[in-house]
Amino acid sequence: MDKLLTLTALRRVIQLTAFVFFVYGAMIFATFYTGDKLTQSLPALSCAYDQSGGDFCALIPLQHQMDHRVSSIFTQGEKVLPALMGTLITLGTVAVLILILNKAFCGWLCPLGFFQETIGMIGTKLGLTQMGTLSRETITKIRPIKWFIFLFLVLILPLLTGIGFLGHEWGNPYCSICPSRIMTTAMTGDMSQVYISQANWGYFALSLIADLLFGLMIALALFVRAPFCRICPILPMQTLFKKIGLLRLVKNGSSSCESCGNCVKACPMDIYEIQESAENKNITHADCTLCGRCIEFCPHDGVMNFKYGPVTILSSSKEGFKKRTKIDKWWRG
Ligand code: SF4
Ligand code: SF4
Ligand code: SF4
Repeated sequence: MDKLLTLTALRRVIQLTAFVFFVYGAMIFATFYTGDKLTQSLPALSCAYDQSGGDFCALIPLQHQMDHRVSSIFTQGEKVLPALMGTLITLGTVAVLILILNKAFCGWLCPLGFFQETIGMIGTKLGLTQMGTLSRETITKIRPIKWFIFLFLVLILPLLTGIGFLGHEWGNPYCSICPSRIMTTAMTGDMSQVYISQANWGYFALSLIADLLFGLMIALALFVRAPFCRICPILPMQTLFKKIGLLRLVKNGSSSCESCGNCVKACPMDIYEIQESAENKNITHADCTLCGRCIEFCPHDGVMNFKYGPVTILSSSKEGFKKRTKIDKWWRG
C-alpha cells in the first residue's frame, strides 16, 4: 500500500474531494442555489452557473463590478472609493485565500484542472501518445494570452459595457466563453450551457467560441498536459498576490542540481525556469500550480522543496524519485 502512496496520489484524492464539493456542494450541504456559497472569490475556476456548486470563482464578481459599479465613476460621477468597494472586497478575499494556499488552489482544488488531468489520464490509458514538454518558443508565445484574456475579457470589456460603449453581451464576456461553465453544469446533468445564441452577432460569436473552446480543450487534454490552464485568466489574478503566499516552491540547488531537466519534464505547465540554478530561492512562477511534481521527480536530496512560511514541508529525495519513477512506468505500462 505504502508503495502507491505518493504526493500525486494524495493530490488526486484531494482534487476528487474538492471536485465533489465545488460541483455538487450546495446539493450536499444546502437546499437551494444560494447565499450558501463560502466565498465568491475562489482563485480557481469553480462556476457560479452551476446551481449545485458549493462555491464560485472570483472572475464573475470582478466582471459584474466592472460593468455595474466601477463604470458608475464615469457614467454617474460616483465617488471612486464607494464604486471600487466591491472590487476591493473581492480582491481582498482573493488575497487572504492566496496567503493561505497560494497557487495550490490550481494544482490541488480546481475542478477544471482536475477535469483536464482526468482526460489526460484517460488518453494515457487509451495508449494515445502524450506530447512531452512543449518547446520554449511555444511557451513564450502562449504565456501572454492569459494576461490578454484577464485584462480585456475580465476587466476592460465589462467596464466599457458599463460605460455604454458596448452592448450588454460584453458585460461578462469571460464567463460567456469559460469552459468551466460548460463542464461543471454538464456534470450536474444541466446541458443548458451548451448552446449557440442567435440573439445578435456578439452573443452568437461568444457562444460559438465557448463551444469550440470546450471541445478543443477536451481534444487537446488527451495529448497535452493542462491545455486550458496555459491561457486561464485565474493565473494572472493569482500572480498579483503570489508574493504574500505562505506556501512556496523553493529551490536549494546551486551545487547539487545537475540541471538534469527532470523537473521541467515532470512539470505540467512546462516551466523551464525551475531548472535554473538557485540557492534558497522562491521559484514559484506565475504559471506554477504548486502541484509538486517537480519535487517528486527531482533525484537530489533537498533541492526542490515546498515551504510553508519558514517550515519545509516536503523535499525532493533520491528514494522518493526512485519510487515515483517506478510507479510512473507501471502506470504508463
Ligand atoms: S489555471 Fe487551470 S487549475 Fe488554475 S484555475 Fe485555471 S483551469 Fe483551474
Ligand atoms: S463561467 Fe467561468 S469565470 Fe464565470 S463564474 Fe463560471 S467558472 Fe467563473
Ligand atoms: S513548477 Fe513544480 S509545482 Fe509548479 S507547476 Fe511545475 S511541477 Fe508543479
